Amino acid sequence: MRFHQSRANGTLGNPEEAGRGRPGPGPAEALFGVALATLAATALIAALSGVAALAADAAPGGAEADGAAAAAQAAEAEAQAKRIVLLRAGATPRKVYYAGLKPVTFRFAFKGKRKRDVQVQVVHRAQDGTRTVIKRWNRDDLEPKTVHKVQWRPRTADGKPVKVGTYFFRVRERGGQFADGSKAEGNRNFKAFHHIFPVRGPHTYGDGVGAGRGHRGQDVFAKCGTKIVAARGGTVKYRAYQGSAAGHYVVIKGRRSGMDYAYMHLHKRARVKPGQKVKTGELIGRVGATGNASGCHLHFELWSKPGWYSGGSHMPSVTNKLRRWDRWG
Ligand SMILES: [Zn+2]
Repeated sequence: MRFHQSRANGTLGNPEEAGRGRPGPGPAEALFGVALATLAATALIAALSGVAALAADAAPGGAEADGAAAAAQAAEAEAQAKRIVLLRAGATPRKVYYAGLKPVTFRFAFKGKRKRDVQVQVVHRAQDGTRTVIKRWNRDDLEPKTVHKVQWRPRTADGKPVKVGTYFFRVRERGGQFADGSKAEGNRNFKAFHHIFPVRGPHTYGDGVGAGRGHRGQDVFAKCGTKIVAARGGTVKYRAYQGSAAGHYVVIKGRRSGMDYAYMHLHKRARVKPGQKVKTGELIGRVGATGNASGCHLHFELWSKPGWYSGGSHMPSVTNKLRRWDRWG
């Protein structure tokens, strides 16, 4: 309990110091002051902050400066002492993906001269403003003016993707209020997604599901050589070449998505082999025109469980899904 240690060595909100310079309270009053200060500081810091300011204004060191004012001042001092002022508070990268290559890293540093027991939280901010704490980290005795970091992969406690949307990190000294990060270096906000658009360059949409005879996916045209990344991490199921149709292709079973992801007409053999685990956003190949392809494009299919030509069926929603991932950037 840092609070009590601090009080014991007199660095914070000592009621005797708060009363210094005024006609000295008697022993009974001083004791009362300590009791009130303890109560206020442990339970009512935030509520009393305003009261303390008022009390200080109303009683500028005259006969009115009694134990209650001293206690309020002590509580104010306590709240001030616990309020972290951030020098730096930044999340990178600003977009993170489920089963992705990188976690989001939050780096922060705070002002002052003393070590603090700190809590960091990652919070989801819904479009209606609702905030939900997703995860907490408690770190003891953190040094001031030093960069500290926490890392987070955007998944729930049971390993599923978190909601798509905006998240941020916030920091407080344990028992204190959350620090204002708005003037600190960096940006605390980031976005979390469960897929990434697989074609990483300028592109246009071609035929969708059902166009022509037996078209089971969505075509995305891009310059030959444009990078293709795994829309969702998972495990590679197949890698093969089919000269009459798919050309060089690869099929990946998505991690906890219940879908298979097929990428066709790659410019050459995929970079990943069967059994290999891949991350969301990992490079798996490049746009080509191998097999039966008119122009450089990715032919992309999504298949429901149990998967691609193994009992599942191709999903007409592939186009809408791709467009949604595309909007995420
Ligand atoms: Zn196609």
